[in-house]
Amino acid sequence: MPTNYATARGRMVREQLIPRGISDSEVLKVMEIVPRHLFVEDALQGQAYGDFCLPIGEGQTISQPYIVALMTQSLALGPEMSVLEIGTGCGYQTAVLSLLCGKVYTVERLKPLLIKARRNFDRLHYLNIVCKVDDGSMGWQANAPYDAIIVTAAGPTVPEALLLQLADPGVMVLPVGDRQSQELVVINKCEGQVKKTTIELVRFVPLIGAQGWS
Ligand code: SAH
Repeated sequence: MPTNYATARGRMVREQLIPRGISDSEVLKVMEIVPRHLFVEDALQGQAYGDFCLPIGEGQTISQPYIVALMTQSLALGPEMSVLEIGTGCGYQTAVLSLLCGKVYTVERLKPLLIKARRNFDRLHYLNIVCKVDDGSMGWQANAPYDAIIVTAAGPTVPEALLLQLADPGVMVLPVGDRQSQELVVINKCEGQVKKTTIELVRFVPLIGAQGWS
């Protein structure tokens, strides 16, 4: 069981991310910095840098490192950008985003998870994150439009509310499909046109809400 977590993170980047095509040096740098083990229960910390997802309580999971890196890379973030994340979970993906953009707005439907995530943000001093408990399938109208939107739970379609809250130009990444398997879709909005590209086959927990599963 690795106790030198910095070494484990370096290995994760070299063995799981770079060989699978994660090439954005900023994303790789941040994946090497954010202490993923502090976002999971103590008993799972030794597995935090493994090539798999892990349970985070309430029947939910933290995504595999490769998927976090892939989704983050697909957003091509810059320091001035504002990002909306749906599905805060333990807050690990949020933390990765927060080091690459100006501000992250994140929505989680399960209060116990958001309480833990907020604690993680505070103790690690991620100061540019604003979070709330709500149905994120409706987005977060108050702070729209967003330069980038990321959804870390899978619905049957692209929620219309999120498309409307995406800036132009803007980019969104989300899993779309049935409850068993989904496609990871990148949506680029540019001059009123919307272009969709599938980048990976994935399996996420369901997006539960008005514009997700009931
Ligand atoms: N990015 C998270 C992944 C958590 S799993 C992490 O790094 O840990 C996906 C999360 O989406 C779960 O916590 C689940 O409760 C949440 N979720 C599902 N439907 C949602 C909805 N409609 N609004 C907000 N969060 C939702």
